[in-house]
Amino acid sequence: MPWRLFIRMKVSPKKYLGQHFLVDENIASRIVDAFSPEAGEKALEIGPGTGVLTRTLLRRYGDNLLMIDIDKESTAYLKKKFPKYSHNILQGDFLSMSLAKLHNGPISIIGNFPYNISSQIFFKILENRDTVPLIVGMVQKEVGERISAGPGSKTYGILSVLLSAFYDIEYLFTVEPEVFDPPPKVRSSVLRLTRNNTNHLPCNETIFTRIVKLGFQNRRKTLRNALKSLNLPEEIHKLDILGKRAEQLSVEDFTELTEKIELVWKN
Ligand code: SAH
Repeated sequence: MPWRLFIRMKVSPKKYLGQHFLVDENIASRIVDAFSPEAGEKALEIGPGTGVLTRTLLRRYGDNLLMIDIDKESTAYLKKKFPKYSHNILQGDFLSMSLAKLHNGPISIIGNFPYNISSQIFFKILENRDTVPLIVGMVQKEVGERISAGPGSKTYGILSVLLSAFYDIEYLFTVEPEVFDPPPKVRSSVLRLTRNNTNHLPCNETIFTRIVKLGFQNRRKTLRNALKSLNLPEEIHKLDILGKRAEQLSVEDFTELTEKIELVWKN
């Protein structure tokens, strides 16, 4: 193989894995600087790819950094690049891995997430919220706007409600496509989520999630119509809040509504 080709050979970007490699060191530092796990926490990088964030992360967290990438080409490349930490480089699917098996204690998460699965990553984080105190992640700009939106906004949705019940969410900054190779078609955003003090919602969480999901699946309808399939009794139907749309409700409003529904379902 000609030498020039050899040195260019890194990880060939695969579209179906959402691979867009960050090539701007300055942006990489801004992302890593936004991440400050507490002592004693493990850090997990999702999708290290060619390791642009990994290099700085390893300098700061050393053996406390774990990495998972689904792409064998990437993990092989990283093991060569960071031989001292090869035992911390895992090949696999973040969505199907067990965080509890990875480490028996808190794990903070960082990464330029594969955009095709970023919502699923956040749903998985929600399931593991008691072991994930901090997340700094890059996502597609629209997704970042949706997640960080509050009630009343057109982009406020299921993930914004569910995540903000348990995390403080900050939209840190926007990233242009040119800083990636290959550049994605969309702009990106960096978010930081910090676990809040809520251990449990005061209401039944399964019912809460069902109401939030149903409400937003029919976001143009009033809750009275959007929640029809639940066959709610008249005393709930006549509540003023049922005349509102899901996007107008805060986490507290959804919680109160769930409590009321629970009460009538119990009786
Ligand atoms: N962090 C790198 C790469 C970002 S691209 C950078 O900033 O340059 C997204 C990365 O996520 C790719 O390396 C891709 O292989 C990886 N990836 C895609 N799906 C994944 C999954 N399900 N689990 C773990 N990693 C995944």
